[in-house]
Amino acid sequence: MEPVIWWVRKDLRVSDNPALHAAIEAGGPVLPVFILDEVFETYGACPLWRFGLGVAKLAETLEAKGARLILRRGRAEDVMDALVRETGARSVRWSRAYDPDQVARDKAVKARLDGLGVDAKSVPGHLLFEPWSIATGQGGFYRVYTPFWRAAKDKPVRELLPAPARIPAPEVWPESDRLADWGLDARMRRGASVVLPYTCVGEDAARDRLDRFIDERVARYQSERDLPAVPATSKLSENLAWGEISPAALWHAGVRALEDGKAEAEIFLKEVVWREFAYHLVWHTPHITKDNWREGWDRFPWNTEDTDEVVAWKQGRTGIRFVDAAMREMYVTGHMHNRSRMIVASYLTKHLLSHWKIGLDWFEECLIDWDPASNAMGWQWSAGSGPDATPYFRVFNPETQIEKFDKQGDYVSRWIAEDYANPSKTALSYFDAVPESWGLSASDPYPQPIVSAAEGRARALQAYEARDF
Ligand SMILES: Cc1cc2nc3c(=O)[nH]c(=O)nc-3n(C[C@H](O)[C@H](O)[C@H](O)COP(=O)(O)OP(=O)(O)OC[C@H]3O[C@@H](n4cnc5c(N)ncnc54)[C@H](O)[C@@H]3O)c2cc1C
Repeated sequence: MEPVIWWVRKDLRVSDNPALHAAIEAGGPVLPVFILDEVFETYGACPLWRFGLGVAKLAETLEAKGARLILRRGRAEDVMDALVRETGARSVRWSRAYDPDQVARDKAVKARLDGLGVDAKSVPGHLLFEPWSIATGQGGFYRVYTPFWRAAKDKPVRELLPAPARIPAPEVWPESDRLADWGLDARMRRGASVVLPYTCVGEDAARDRLDRFIDERVARYQSERDLPAVPATSKLSENLAWGEISPAALWHAGVRALEDGKAEAEIFLKEVVWREFAYHLVWHTPHITKDNWREGWDRFPWNTEDTDEVVAWKQGRTGIRFVDAAMREMYVTGHMHNRSRMIVASYLTKHLLSHWKIGLDWFEECLIDWDPASNAMGWQWSAGSGPDATPYFRVFNPETQIEKFDKQGDYVSRWIAEDYANPSKTALSYFDAVPESWGLSASDPYPQPIVSAAEGRARALQAYEARDF
């Protein structure tokens, strides 16, 4: 029988995977195919490496189900064209993407497959709700989160799909590249071995993570989720980014917790819907990923160069402890606490008056949970250039934020080594993770602030007053 191609992308799971189900339902043997294409090739060092770990794990899972993951590299439409000709596949199914780079790629693939007479269909799976399925009373899109949440919260979320016991296999498998030959870790340099212990790869690990979070943390989520030293959040952004768990799985688990009397689970559900909101914005205003959402900000004189201040920010050497702790946390673990993301973003765009795109790109380089929609929304929110953004004149004070959110200094001592008689292991590991060319040593004195909280605030407010928009 003619095979059906399941085009695997950022949906690295067999449980609750509507694209895999659609492929099986199309009838015939299923060929799972992952293409390292022109979009994925451009991903930052850490996301690309982490993506590779997830692909390897899915390949193992598929083997246990009698299937194989075929790996190919190249322009997606060309690879797909060649595969269809080679295998005689008549149908292709994939999980729909919503960010502009993937949408453009998918359109090109769909057009090519249509031209070949192949039945090519995408199915939802990456989100709870299709971005166009939530609309204002006037039929437009939401620019503000709270009414979006109100519109979303009572919408039905589909039931989870079970993992198939077996995946029907073809008699002959096409050739596959070897993942190791792709060198997806090449740009991680020595960072890979440092970040690896902080990863939680694959759908089984993601499900365990969700279960543990619901059992142990969700009941205290509202009260502790803003404390970066406390393991209070789910860390599931890593798994959602690569599709190792579906947002529907988070949603149903959160609703069950709420029904079990864990009232703080509602805040968790609201956070999951922030991710939906990010995709809602990206779908309706794709320029949010690359340009100021509010055009007026095009005229704001942000620094766009890698100045010494920007380099110090990237390297966690601004002399502002909360900022440096956060930047080092990200470099070592590939994750950064949400409160910390807001603080470092505010410091870069406001105290240092540097463009949010510098931060957007650096996060894309360093995060294992990098997500094009949440990252763009988060940066534009912080800079004041986005919809529903923090008011431009609200400048987080990183020193008072420490007093509020890291009173005992646990977070700072976890990530800053300099000037401590007995630095923590985690703080020291930063110096193993960073490239030697940065020339950093834990025995160096901790830097003086490059721009103090007060000075930066005054400078930012002055620049804002001079705006002509
Ligand atoms: C400047 C900036 C950049 C960001 N970049 C990213 C990014 O690249 N990838 C990413 O996944 N998130 C990003 N976020 C959002 C947020 O910081 C992370 O989703 C969150 O820290 C993930 O940790 P968690 O899984 O433990 O979250 P939890 O507190 O357990 O929340 C559960 C889930 O809700 C979603 N969520 C929570 N907060 C947000 C939020 N503010 N925006 C969108 N979704 C949210 C995430 O999917 C998260 O996994 C960014 C935020 C800012 C301010």
